[in-house]
Amino acid sequence: MLKGKNALVTGSTSGIGRGMALKLAEAGANIMLNGFGAAEEIADLRRHIETTYKVGVDYHGADLSRVADIEDMMKTAAAKFGLVDILINNAGIQHTAPTEAFPVDKWDAVIAINLSSAFHASRLAIPAMKAAGWGRIINTASVHGLVGSVHKVAYVAAKHGIVGMTKVVALELAGSGVTCNAIAPGWVATPLVQKQIDARAAAEGISVDEARKKLLGEKQPSMAFAETDQLGALAVFLSSPAADQITGITLPMDGGWTAQ
Ligand code: NAD
Repeated sequence: MLKGKNALVTGSTSGIGRGMALKLAEAGANIMLNGFGAAEEIADLRRHIETTYKVGVDYHGADLSRVADIEDMMKTAAAKFGLVDILINNAGIQHTAPTEAFPVDKWDAVIAINLSSAFHASRLAIPAMKAAGWGRIINTASVHGLVGSVHKVAYVAAKHGIVGMTKVVALELAGSGVTCNAIAPGWVATPLVQKQIDARAAAEGISVDEARKKLLGEKQPSMAFAETDQLGALAVFLSSPAADQITGITLPMDGGWTAQ
């Protein structure tokens, strides 16, 4: 369905971004990977996508907290593919602390990586998408783009920012063939969440399994994690012709979290 399209997925060496890259490749898109990780593991992922799905795969190691790196990544993707048809702004980090104790450097890093990087990649991708008359920008927001939680001041601010940015970009591009939407996962079983589960188990002196159940029980009525391939399938849907008239929305996949 996406044969011949080129997708750049930020933060795709792990977790949700990896799941999205795999599903987009399965649907036929060429993939530009981005994110940190061991060179060997990234090479394995590239090979896996290439051989399994027979699509083109490249990798750019841009540190998305650096504007110059993002500019280089977008230039490289354009040179390699000719055009980035599908841009998935997915990379993100988390830091938790009460607002009055929140480290200023962590605030700056969360805002840069979770919010500003999506602005920079989008502004650099839009001209070619508009000229082509087709494009998809999909931002990985979070339920924390819709509701708050304690000790996540930078993350919640960044994710609410992404939801707002999604609306503005969608309005500016309405009618151009380019859509912009956000996806709002609740808890997804990824390394980012595993760190929070491990920290909670250690802090409360409980097992990792108990910490996992407590985490889900507080927020996610389904009591189950969303899977990264389910989020990947959603990205494929939003990239499909069926979603031509879906723009400016933030779609939760949260087991009922934001229905409460
Ligand atoms: P993850 O830690 O598994 O993956 C994060 C990815 O971002 C990795 O590839 C990492 O290398 C990359 N990354 C981090 N900092 C970077 C930087 N400076 N430059 C380039 N790449 C960088 O996390 P995940 O859970 O897959 O999270 C992906 C996105 O989903 C994030 O935006 C996160 O906020 C969002 N999200 C996750 C959950 C969840 O439950 N896991 C829920 C809601 C939203």
